[in-house]
Amino acid sequence: MIYLPPIFFFLFSLMFFGVWRLERTRPHLGLFGCAFLLVALGTFVQVIFVPADIGQNAVLSAVLYVAGVLFFSHGVLIRSGRKLPYWFHALFMIAIVGSTFYYYYIERNLFYRIYIINLGIGAIFLATALQARFLLRGHSGDKLLFWLILALGLHFFPRTIMTAERMATSPVIEFSAGSFWLVLQFTISVIGVITGIGLLAVTFMDMIAELRKERDTDSLTGLANRRLFSRHVETMMGRGRSLEKPMCFAMIDVDHFKLYNDVYGHAAGDEALKHVAGTIKATLRHSEDMAARIGGEEFALFFYDCTTEQAGQLLERLREQIAALKIEHEGSLASGVLTISVGVAELENNEDFESLYRRADVSLYSSKATGRDQVTLA
Ligand code: GH3
Ligand code: MG
Ligand code: MG
Repeated sequence: MIYLPPIFFFLFSLMFFGVWRLERTRPHLGLFGCAFLLVALGTFVQVIFVPADIGQNAVLSAVLYVAGVLFFSHGVLIRSGRKLPYWFHALFMIAIVGSTFYYYYIERNLFYRIYIINLGIGAIFLATALQARFLLRGHSGDKLLFWLILALGLHFFPRTIMTAERMATSPVIEFSAGSFWLVLQFTISVIGVITGIGLLAVTFMDMIAELRKERDTDSLTGLANRRLFSRHVETMMGRGRSLEKPMCFAMIDVDHFKLYNDVYGHAAGDEALKHVAGTIKATLRHSEDMAARIGGEEFALFFYDCTTEQAGQLLERLREQIAALKIEHEGSLASGVLTISVGVAELENNEDFESLYRRADVSLYSSKATGRDQVTLA
């Protein structure tokens, strides 16, 4: 039983190093691997009792545990492209290991040592949860990770109190050899396994979220692609119909974009499309609206709960904003100016998306045919 924690921690360490080898773009997996390895070593030196000197053993295992938990915290933040300051790591390491040293070599007190190591590690988890509270606004993997850190941190508090209470009522000899110690080791194994499985689940959810993003978004502009857009529109059409909400669909095509590419170059054309996409995105009013890039320099907009008049105003303003963009391109003296042509149609009773699309497209064609840089309502 006493060998179970180091074995479990070591196995999870191997698993995370293994996944990290396959996914080198995720350095936090390597850090989780290091974290499990350090905690495995921490539990290992305690169960085999090497070094045999109690003080040395306590200090060494404290260093390993704290380092392991700090690697974990660093991994959690790195995963979201953030960082904990160096003083954070230094502060916890010095405070916990320093006090462990103090309460063995200077003023011997086992109670204080137990409080310090457990509550200290609990505090690192809680401080990490505080620093990583932005995870609550993320996808389900982010949320799972946040609750895992918080639960890990909180569990150290009842655990410490129970350990100290138990020790107060029974001699230390019995404590380190008796059944309560086995129970403690067992709970460490269970918590280690839950943490490991939780982190593997987070890793799995991260991968799914990334694949989904690749599937649904346009890589140049970050807008939705045609696939996600159609699905969203179909869903919203269903909901809007039953609630009798007006809905509008707009098609946008950049004017004379071939010429723009010829003048500024294809790379500059790509840059210009990003600016256009950013401006289009800014017209969205709430999460039911959506913008998409549906072709090379063609975009689409869907407005939920929006009449033709409102959509006309929004799109007229968008047209002006785009015409007013002065896009700077490297190596070119004149800034780029673009215009767009827009066709917009309001969804009619019992109309399907295909027909709505066609009517918007006809309006767009009419914008093009009658001079460009304008919005035509179907
Ligand atoms: P108009 O729409 O006003 O009739 O003229 P246009 O020149 O924009 O003609 P059209 O819409 O037929 O052509 C679109 C051009 O856009 C063709 C291609 O050179 C360019 N284009 C399409 N996709 C991209 C892209 O991803 N990047 C760049 N730089 N250019 C693109
Ligand atoms: Mg086009
Ligand atoms: Mg065009």
